[in-house]
Amino acid sequence: LETVKDLPKKAVLDAFTCVECGRCQENCPAFATGKLLNPKTLILQNEAALLEGRQSTKLSDLYDPGVLWQCTTCGACEDVCPVGIEHTPVIIGARRGEVSNGDAPEFLPPVYNNLERRGNIWGLGADQRQKFVTAAGFETFDPRKHEYLLWLGCAGSFEADFQKSLRALAEILRARGKTFGVLSKERCNGDVAKRTGNEYLFQELATQNVDDLKAAGVTQVVTSCPHCLKTLGHDYQQFGFEGKVMHSSVLIDALTRDDRPVDLEHESVTFHDPCYLGRYAGEHEAPRALLERYGGDVSEPVRNKDNPFCCGAGGGLLFEEHESGRRISQTRFEQLQATGANTIVMGCPFCTVMLKGASASTPGSDVQMVDLMTWTEGRLRKAGAVGVTSSATEAAPE
Ligand code: SF4
Ligand code: SF4
Repeated sequence: LETVKDLPKKAVLDAFTCVECGRCQENCPAFATGKLLNPKTLILQNEAALLEGRQSTKLSDLYDPGVLWQCTTCGACEDVCPVGIEHTPVIIGARRGEVSNGDAPEFLPPVYNNLERRGNIWGLGADQRQKFVTAAGFETFDPRKHEYLLWLGCAGSFEADFQKSLRALAEILRARGKTFGVLSKERCNGDVAKRTGNEYLFQELATQNVDDLKAAGVTQVVTSCPHCLKTLGHDYQQFGFEGKVMHSSVLIDALTRDDRPVDLEHESVTFHDPCYLGRYAGEHEAPRALLERYGGDVSEPVRNKDNPFCCGAGGGLLFEEHESGRRISQTRFEQLQATGANTIVMGCPFCTVMLKGASASTPGSDVQMVDLMTWTEGRLRKAGAVGVTSSATEAAPE
């Protein structure tokens, strides 16, 4: 989308449907942290331009400067809108217009370059992923031997903290007698390219990944990254991938549902729902079930479950170092800290990066921060339920 006349029919209809209730604005993390972006204003600006017949006005000129690049694509605005207005297709569509004209903000070209040259957001070599795969003892996926394809994602392939979480997940799967393998080669799922409007790059990555998934005979994917969950499970359908994709919390909850651990120490915890898990996938019960099953006394933060407050990383903003206004991650961290829990548990590698960063820049913060799979495996280990292969045959989710 480049100009007002490019707005699709749904966006035109939306512009005249808004009842100006302000719910989108109240729930937007960008607006809440003092940025110029206001989803309500954006819709009303569309309405005004359409009413005034300003068809050739560029969308980037119509909206306030920079707002297109302040959206985390958290989806809160459209989720709370009482009349079903969709803000993100307009924002991402307008980003597409900017990117195709070479007007992407300066934090994005290096990321695109990494994706084009190395197939991952960090620009690291495939040998580094292979080192981790070998060290962790992950086999190459073979449909005759393995039930699940473990999708590592960029974070799992290269980021030490998240690799710890994947090792924990693997330990639990092995202990439950579940078999899994990984692809010999994996590219980024393309989430950052898609949400920032580089559709061409996204399609390239998606096509290659879908070809590899199909060639490997994958029918069930487990991932600990909610962005991979949405992209592989939803966006890849249009590229012909029909495998079942599930978040690790859902699978491990199902595999441990009959566990009744005794004498586990209780621990006060809170859970940060990732937007791409709690809101987009509607999965917020499984993480809590795991926490409660293994001794977590869960305190709920404001904005939780299917209406979480974003960590600030989505929509490519993980790479934006010059965030205007207050940092979204700081506000979210303080909301979690205000629960008084000793430990903040997270279920997304990018939320972890953002919230740990916020914790590190908060003087006197002594709250523990840990990924859900690492936490769960630690509790199972204490209960003596991992570290030995079990022949348990609990049913996986249908
Ligand atoms: S998707 Fe999230 S950040 Fe973007 S406008 Fe909507 S509420 Fe704001
Ligand atoms: S929530 Fe929907 S109806 Fe309400 S102001 Fe926002 S766009 Fe308009």
